[in-house]
Amino acid sequence: MSKIFITGGAGFIGSHLTDLYLTNGYEVVALDDFSTGRESNIAGAMKNPRYRMIRGDVRDEALVESLVSECDLVMHLAARIGLQVVIESPLETLRSNGRGTEVVLQSAAANKKRIIIASTSEVYGLSTKIPSSESGPVAFGSPAVGRWSYACSKVYDEFLALALFREGGLPATVVRLFNTVGARQSGRYGMVLPRLVGQALSNEPLTVYGDGTQTRCFCSVHEVVHALRALAENPASIGEVINLGNPQEIRIIDLAKRVIEVTQSKSTITYREFAQVYGEGFEEIMRRVPDIAKAKRLIGFDPRRSLDDTIREVAEQQQGAASAVSPGR
Ligand code: UDP
Repeated sequence: MSKIFITGGAGFIGSHLTDLYLTNGYEVVALDDFSTGRESNIAGAMKNPRYRMIRGDVRDEALVESLVSECDLVMHLAARIGLQVVIESPLETLRSNGRGTEVVLQSAAANKKRIIIASTSEVYGLSTKIPSSESGPVAFGSPAVGRWSYACSKVYDEFLALALFREGGLPATVVRLFNTVGARQSGRYGMVLPRLVGQALSNEPLTVYGDGTQTRCFCSVHEVVHALRALAENPASIGEVINLGNPQEIRIIDLAKRVIEVTQSKSTITYREFAQVYGEGFEEIMRRVPDIAKAKRLIGFDPRRSLDDTIREVAEQQQGAASAVSPGR
């Protein structure tokens, strides 16, 4: 495998995956519609002669078909993401994530290409079985609640990939990504860590939603992209659904406190009601923890990077981006 096709290549995870492959001598062809992807994420890659970025939609069948056919491996990361995006536009979430993945999977099947598709821990939704393992049920809430359109679209993607594997021999792997963090992640669409770090750096109050007792597990993007590559290279992962995340659980209120401490901020913490942020009827996931035994068995996945290190990384990147915008600040 020498040429990699990455959909969503200008996004947070896609751009780090791009850098990993370019550093290791691969060619990368990336597709992105720049809905949430950013030019600044790929500024380094753009200087590399082994990199090509195409601006376009994953639902563009002819375009996707031609890009899939010229590559050895497809990494499908393009999706409508971020709770704010999903809640504001469930229709586009369903269409883009559903139809987009259908087009990419069909092209991979027609061209007999190895493919990894990104799914999400959101599919475990309201399940109370913690930690969540791949063999357990998915459990999202009522379609009347906009948030679940994301989980629904991703579950559809998973069914499609597995059906194409079983019925057509497509060498597909589904990866369920838990909360992933690191430099380049944008806070504009929800994501808690870049938001809290940004607030801490400007000494504004950190916005904790609800009472802050809900928990998440945060895994460094660097560990996630290495794992994606390792899974792509391991034939035992074909036809499988695999969790990737860091099992270390933290309450959001404690995350806010860590951010204040690590960035040495003067910020305080302020609480906001879920309904105020996401509208009436919003349903929150109170705990989310991955069981990563399967990834460990397949590729020795053992995430170790500390959250404090990632907070520092995000803070440094945000400070760098701010000084790039206004030199001398
Ligand atoms: N959150 C928060 N303040 C923010 C943004 C998010 O307290 O400014 C909370 C959010 O309610 C959730 C957690 O942080 O409990 C993670 O939110 P995110 O949107 O990053 O991811 P997800 O909810 O998809 O896990």
